[in-house]
Amino acid sequence: AVEVGGGDKEVVREYFNGTGFKRWKKIYGDTDDVNTVQLDIRLGHSKTVENVIKMLTDDKDGGRTLRGVTVCDAGCGTGSLTIPLAKEGAVVSASDISASMVAEAERQVREALADDAGGELVMPQFQVGDLESLEGKFDTVVCLDVLIHYPQSKADAMIAHLASLAERRLVLSFAPKTLYYDLLKRVGELFPGPSKATRAYLHAEKDVERALEKVGWRIRKRGLITTQFYFAKLIEAVPAA
Ligand code: SAM
Repeated sequence: AVEVGGGDKEVVREYFNGTGFKRWKKIYGDTDDVNTVQLDIRLGHSKTVENVIKMLTDDKDGGRTLRGVTVCDAGCGTGSLTIPLAKEGAVVSASDISASMVAEAERQVREALADDAGGELVMPQFQVGDLESLEGKFDTVVCLDVLIHYPQSKADAMIAHLASLAERRLVLSFAPKTLYYDLLKRVGELFPGPSKATRAYLHAEKDVERALEKVGWRIRKRGLITTQFYFAKLIEAVPAA
């Protein structure tokens, strides 16, 4: 197993191009070769994706549609969110630090496109690169379950950068740092297994909120998604003014 120290990006990249790619492709997929924990994480994560789509399509200001709306899916993984967004007609720019992840996301989109004969799926644009190198302006920026790879010291800059790319809203999910989850994580760390290949960072909601406030953003909606082994805080932020 690869040990990730101090948010070392190179190691995270290597992990998600290798063992991490295989592990997460399975978890985010729909095959039967997953254990109970992986199945539970798959369920939790799919709830997060569902909630994001609901959050974005329920938006009254946005006219309840994503058609033609530009969305940046930062750290897109295998495309679990990119695909439903594209199906809703959003113009998606999807990127990830891992070339393997991007290739898999592209493959899955092509598959979805083939099944979508006569549908309105808009082909997303894919890019291999880290969050910090993202440029451009998007109506909406979404970054799901990526903050877990960032220590709090690096999270502020990452959040500020994502906010600078968003014109109207920023949607983030992260593993919340609460007494209970912190304890759970520490206990988990006492039993290292082959699946625990990266260091995971939890984030206190107030730290994320403070990072957003520093750059003039405020949290408009909050949600919590939990299953037995998956927990994510989901927030939607908008410019404060
Ligand atoms: N957002 C996707 C989803 O929810 O299905 C994938 C989540 S997966 C747990 C984390 C992803 O973040 C991996 O695909 C990994 O390669 C990517 N990642 C980690 N650090 C990154 C960075 N600094 N820049 C871009 N992507 C990164």
